[in-house]
Amino acid sequence: MAGIKFFPPHPLFMKRGSGSRIWDVDGNEYIDYLMSYGALILGHGHKSLRDAVESVLEEVGTTVTGTPSEIEIEYGRLLRDLYNKEGLLRFTNSGLEATLLAVRLARAYTRRRCVAKFEGHYHGANDQLLVSYKPDLASAGLRESPKPVSDSADVDGSRLEDTLVLPFNDWESTERLVRANAPRLACLILEPFEDGVIPGERTFMTKLRGLTADLRIPLVYDEVKTGFRVRIGGASEYYSVVPDITCLGKIIGGGLPVGAVVGNEEIMKLLDPRGAKGTTVFHSGTFNGNPLVLNAGKATVETLMEGGNFKRIVANTDSLKRSVSTALSSRQIQASVVGEGCMFSYFITNGGVRNYRDAENSDMKLRRILDLAIILSGVYLKPAGRFSLSLAHSKEDLQLTTEMFGRALDEVTNRLQK
Ligand code: PMP
Repeated sequence: MAGIKFFPPHPLFMKRGSGSRIWDVDGNEYIDYLMSYGALILGHGHKSLRDAVESVLEEVGTTVTGTPSEIEIEYGRLLRDLYNKEGLLRFTNSGLEATLLAVRLARAYTRRRCVAKFEGHYHGANDQLLVSYKPDLASAGLRESPKPVSDSADVDGSRLEDTLVLPFNDWESTERLVRANAPRLACLILEPFEDGVIPGERTFMTKLRGLTADLRIPLVYDEVKTGFRVRIGGASEYYSVVPDITCLGKIIGGGLPVGAVVGNEEIMKLLDPRGAKGTTVFHSGTFNGNPLVLNAGKATVETLMEGGNFKRIVANTDSLKRSVSTALSSRQIQASVVGEGCMFSYFITNGGVRNYRDAENSDMKLRRILDLAIILSGVYLKPAGRFSLSLAHSKEDLQLTTEMFGRALDEVTNRLQK
């Protein structure tokens, strides 16, 4: 699997960003919908973020103290209250570190080793979870009981044996596999919206909460993408489901590296360093909870929650989603546009897209070609990736994007017809 920044024939080198725009090293300007994989919900270089970073240098006088600080408590409470009012929170330096900690906590809490995850769901470069993220369908087994497939050299042996792979949005098969493996499951982790955009169906999500609660298997929502994008309170708010553990990242750092784990007190108290040796879960990191990142993150989240800011981004996203859908259908390209809140994606298919297999069976080749044409026309996103909107995207940006998108579609379809 390629690194995240790479795409064929070669990635673009970017030099500068401002608001909704980004410029490459050759000086070409793009309307940016990558927004650093969704992390920048206020756009590039928003004033509240710049002020927050500067105020840390002014007032704290340093970037990191290596000690607890007030901002950790203040910002931690703000996030905790949005994601699990009765829970406790720990900051990490990335989404990956959040999922690592969540799995370690769940394994220590249940004293079991196996983790259940869904095919096509990403949880960072985490040994036990780099399994069946992007499996080749030829080696992935049956749709109803997917085989664990390694996503990286060195992810093998016990890591594969200790990972149970489930089919997303297929309740019958998921229930059967979870029940059959329940005695060995330390937790069930998922992206509540696969790849941030394909929703878990409501009844599926409600039943999943019920089943895991009945079987006492901690349920982990990985909201690194969906947090503050699907809703302010993430997918958890959208589904009215409180999982046992939530992983956060991206937006909560305002564009600086961060992650967080919010979880039920009973599980999180395993982190208490005053606990008995052998029962305490180790968690440490030189830069965890550093004031520079947390101040930037807090300013971002507060700005997003101000007035109608979040609603405005959602309204703009809905409007662009409609335009993309119309542009495709008016050119007889059958597509499914999926996503909720402030991000979306589209799949070229005449069926619905409910999980990884549906996505893989859509015309990904044409989608990549279209996206390369879209990039050349001045709209930036990762080919076959998501559109992530921000507060900086204006109505004019949306209008321009719609025009450029339409032109790129015409160009590709004309060439293909020749
Ligand atoms: N979980 C999910 C759902 C993600 O989307 C990502 C990053 N794209 C991660 C975990 C890992 O986060 P990070 O890149 O900050 O390590």
